[in-house]
Amino acid sequence: MDAINWSELTFGYLKTDYNVRSHYRDGKWSDPEISDSEFLNLHIASSCLHYGQEAFEGLKAFRGKDGKIRIFRMRDNALRMQASARGVMMAEFPVELFEKAVVEAVKRNERFVPPYESGASLYVRPLLIGTSAQVGVKPAREYTFVVFVTPVGPYFKEGFKTTPVVIYREYDRAAPLGTGTIKVGGNYAASLVAGEKAHENGYSAVLYLDAREKKYIDECGPANFFGIKNNTYITPQSTSILPSITNKSLIQLAEDEGLSVERRSIPIEELGTFEEAGMCGTAAVISPIQRVDDVAENKSYVFSADGKPGVICEKLYQKLRAIQYGDAPDNYGWVTVL
Ligand SMILES: *Cc1c(COP(=O)(O)O)cnc(C)c1O
Repeated sequence: MDAINWSELTFGYLKTDYNVRSHYRDGKWSDPEISDSEFLNLHIASSCLHYGQEAFEGLKAFRGKDGKIRIFRMRDNALRMQASARGVMMAEFPVELFEKAVVEAVKRNERFVPPYESGASLYVRPLLIGTSAQVGVKPAREYTFVVFVTPVGPYFKEGFKTTPVVIYREYDRAAPLGTGTIKVGGNYAASLVAGEKAHENGYSAVLYLDAREKKYIDECGPANFFGIKNNTYITPQSTSILPSITNKSLIQLAEDEGLSVERRSIPIEELGTFEEAGMCGTAAVISPIQRVDDVAENKSYVFSADGKPGVICEKLYQKLRAIQYGDAPDNYGWVTVL
């Protein structure tokens, strides 16, 4: 293998040595098995290909100063994947098997876990698909779970910085009582048009409003939204937001820092009152928002005139990263040390 240039890694796919798979047949999951193939042999009538029976997860493994590998909150990802499975009527993958498969996938690809100094990490991608042949619309009888890993570069290559996001009122990501709360590929397919348009126009993401009234902040394409004001961490509550594990972690850390926390509807105009705002998710932890452009209304809400992240975003970001890399104590049992 050519040596990997850790500093040049992006958020892409780099082939690793092994992935781990399990199959559901006759009502039972097989023990996770190791594969060195990057391909799946799928039936052309698999339900995942036609009716979107697919769910995925995203988590990371980090190498600490001590050389040890730490996986962040994988039990939460296991539970969330079960919720996603229920949401699109797939067989739930057992939590213990999920943890076993993730640990195995990370261990077998240990040489791809970037060194501490690089600021890079190993991205872990579990997925679950319906595989039995089905032409009528109904849930599959057979499923496949796969977990693969790929090293990814630090999200902020030029240091922690803000980016602009945009509100496009002519698009919705998820319906109010639809699949927004589960992590399924279909939500991402539905957000590609708006997302690409945002990127072409220089924005890092789309900030979606509630689909029913277009009055409240929902979430960003692949990340939850939060705002900071009066020493309070405020994040939207709705029936179409994906419960971000990063958001949940930041809420705990914000409370530890003495901030109040509010989970509630956030009317758009309230954007004008926030001192800081950010997007959060596994990929970046926090991606602080420079400004939100509400294009149709010809309005801009600016959080950072000089492009620098706010002090609370910076503090929460550093705190969570320190726990992930093992530089700060893991007071809540979030980390699995291999
Ligand atoms: C995965 C995801 C997030 C972030 O969740 P994390 O668990 O923090 O990575 C936020 N929003 C959507 C729509 C997602 O799919």
